[in-house]
Amino acid sequence: MDFARFRSHGTRQIAIDLGTANTLVYVPGEGIVVDEPSVVALEVAKGVQRVRAVGSDAKILMGKTPDNIRTYRPLNDGVINDLEMAEEMIKHFIEKAAGVRSRMSRGPEIVIGVPSASTQVERRAIQAAAFNAGARDVWLIEEPMAAAIGAGLPVDEPVGSMVVDIGGGTTEVGIIALKKPTYSTSTRVGGDKMDEAIGAYVRRKYNVLIGSSTAERIKKEIGSAEAKPEGMHIVGHVGGRDVAIGTPCEITLNQAEIAEALHEPVYNIVETVLAALEHAEPEIAADIIDKGITMTGGGSLLRSIDRVLADETGLPVRLAAEPLTCVALGAGRALEDREYRDAACPA
Ligand code: ADP
Ligand code: MG
Repeated sequence: MDFARFRSHGTRQIAIDLGTANTLVYVPGEGIVVDEPSVVALEVAKGVQRVRAVGSDAKILMGKTPDNIRTYRPLNDGVINDLEMAEEMIKHFIEKAAGVRSRMSRGPEIVIGVPSASTQVERRAIQAAAFNAGARDVWLIEEPMAAAIGAGLPVDEPVGSMVVDIGGGTTEVGIIALKKPTYSTSTRVGGDKMDEAIGAYVRRKYNVLIGSSTAERIKKEIGSAEAKPEGMHIVGHVGGRDVAIGTPCEITLNQAEIAEALHEPVYNIVETVLAALEHAEPEIAADIIDKGITMTGGGSLLRSIDRVLADETGLPVRLAAEPLTCVALGAGRALEDREYRDAACPA
């Protein structure tokens, strides 16, 4: 990859969705050029640590690494829990998108989507990481804002729009009007907690240990937010280890069981949305009652979660067209319009 493409479009801009599970990089005129897991693998050799792999190459190593390799998810808990690793990751992906020449020539302008709950220290650190990676200019946008733009909500109108973004580590809820976030909140419950809940359920009920990748796979394959009787017939198979006898085994799980396992994380998300609705100004609340809620993020792909949210809030709920890419696309569109810089968090 080289820098030519930025020139050919007369622009040198990059938008980054720094997600807890996945990092996406969008380049205007190019589209999404990076879409990889937010994982860094470090190798320790002779007491010296070095980055062994980043992204997909690092995720493959998770849970399977020899002693001298460690994998990290720098944004595991939604906020940045490992700044150094986050910086390595940002640098790697910027270089992948912009080419190494960004270090030498005048670097690109970069907008980065950050969790609305991230602190000023974390925001500064992310900015610094992007500058270190060769950026000419770096500014930040809160993820619910970017998600709303990417989902095509009328964020520039004097109408309140509500977006619920269910990621890996967190769920972010934002209310936006006139290009400004008027309210945002988040909970550290998302796809990861769903995977953990499935693992805990299987251990409790079958006395079998399963890995987080297995739990995630079963969630995607047969998971549902609703425990319906017909879910008994939809089954999936998982391999694990029997806790009592310590040997590998395979069990069959049905959809109703997964829905039961997911009850707690799903209802935590519902509670967070209800709390946000209570905080909305009356005029904005009226808009939301009228227009409903838009869901984005990978977790919103869980079957029936939109229906559960609609039932519990009594509001219309719509799933965005491309839930996994909304934040990257929205941040990319924000690059084109300087007014969104006002909506960006102070850095
Ligand atoms: P983040 O923004 O935090 O990086 P993403 O929006 O990329 O997160 O979503 C990742 C989460 O979405 C993961 O927990 C993943 O398991 C979950 N996910 C992806 N596809 C599905 C699906 N079809 N059903 C349920 N969960 C899914
Ligand atoms: Mg996200």
